[in-house]
Amino acid sequence: MAMNEYIARVSEKLRRQYPNEPEYLQSVSAWLEMIAPAVDDPRYEKLDLLTRMVEPERMFSFLVPWQDDEGTIHTNHGYRVQFSSAIGPYKGGLRFHPSVTPSVVKFLGFEQTYKNALTGLPIGGAAGGADFDPRGRSSREIMRFCQAFMYSLYRYIGADTDVPAGDIGVGAREIGYLYGAYKRVTGRAESSALTGKGLTYGGSKVRQEAAGFGTVYFLARMLEHQGETLEGKRIAISGFGNMSWGVCKKAAELGGKVVTLSGPDGYIFDGDGVDTPEKLDFMLQMRASGLDRVSSYAQKFGVEFHPGKKPWEVPVDIVIPCATQNEIGVEDAVLILANGVRYYVEAANMPATAEALKLLRLSPKVLTAGAKAAGSGGVAVSALEMAQNAIRYSWSRQEVDEKLRTIMSSIYDASAAAAEEYGLGYDLIAGNDIAAFKKISQAMIAQGL
Ligand code: GLU
Repeated sequence: MAMNEYIARVSEKLRRQYPNEPEYLQSVSAWLEMIAPAVDDPRYEKLDLLTRMVEPERMFSFLVPWQDDEGTIHTNHGYRVQFSSAIGPYKGGLRFHPSVTPSVVKFLGFEQTYKNALTGLPIGGAAGGADFDPRGRSSREIMRFCQAFMYSLYRYIGADTDVPAGDIGVGAREIGYLYGAYKRVTGRAESSALTGKGLTYGGSKVRQEAAGFGTVYFLARMLEHQGETLEGKRIAISGFGNMSWGVCKKAAELGGKVVTLSGPDGYIFDGDGVDTPEKLDFMLQMRASGLDRVSSYAQKFGVEFHPGKKPWEVPVDIVIPCATQNEIGVEDAVLILANGVRYYVEAANMPATAEALKLLRLSPKVLTAGAKAAGSGGVAVSALEMAQNAIRYSWSRQEVDEKLRTIMSSIYDASAAAAEEYGLGYDLIAGNDIAAFKKISQAMIAQGL
């Protein structure tokens, strides 16, 4: 009882302090609800651990002035939240998207901390980015923006301090420019100051595929638990970027069929599956075009395009949201349940609203997994990239892929075991949050104030 009061107090304080940060509050309150059964040690309150876990250790913002190809000056806002260093250097992605706000980076940094904790690798949590819209920008403009961003950020990051990587709008090209700028201003070829680097300058094999591959490896364990495989299963996904591409590729390899992709313009339905090398390469081209629309896939391959619609109306066996936060509302969750979907696996961070997630999680008809578990493949291979940089060595594709599979499997095991231990049945979302909470709180207690 006293513990529940402590949770309520922490939650109330946060609400009062950050009334204008809805994504951050949403992500923290969902987590507090999940871990409540495990807040069972009086030291948590004595050390005020919960407050220290839900608020970032440090956060800063900076202006990013840059010049477009016409010579016009634009001024964007950049952010970095260094959320937790409890188990290693701050680690997390950078997002370049007009929707980026302090609330969004704080929610991402919070989720990243608990996502990173169970990879088994010593990394803390962070996130950052800018409200910059890369849509329609030339490569030169992107380069200038990345340089301007790095000039403001470089003094706060480093291999043992904070290691940024990609997220929405930041892929291999942007990491290349960011790393080039970092090297120039610091004068050091400090490989693991950034991850997601290209293969010719310290990047890891399988990093590009890792986010999507990891999700499918996690899903494979859920299927196995039900005595099933991916063979012949139909999957609806959202997005068409890096995460979606990796999911399509690995699902195809394991005999599943991804039948939808989506963008801000609507979704495509490809009943044959997005599974040939030509289709997979076309996804990369669509992304590289910078147009941020998926309709060109329908034109190219002669499949259906549904403008302005979301892919959740398609009846499938498995749903994997791969795009962005809050893309699944209550009405989408109702559709997903009505369509008889049996697996709901989050690849993107916080893809469902609180109410939508509750509907899905509490339904006995669908098995659910959260992004802090199923979405951690990308950062797991980022940590493997840091390990390879540290030993100045490069593992083979097979070695990295096998390590990724093992990591995803152990996250699954830890989540299932924690749910079991707290009498929560097969609640992988609560199990994952509890296991990560236990690990981080132990590290914090051990290190004192
Ligand atoms: N933003 C990605 C994620 O959520 C990458 C983070 C990283 O590699 O540091 O996993």
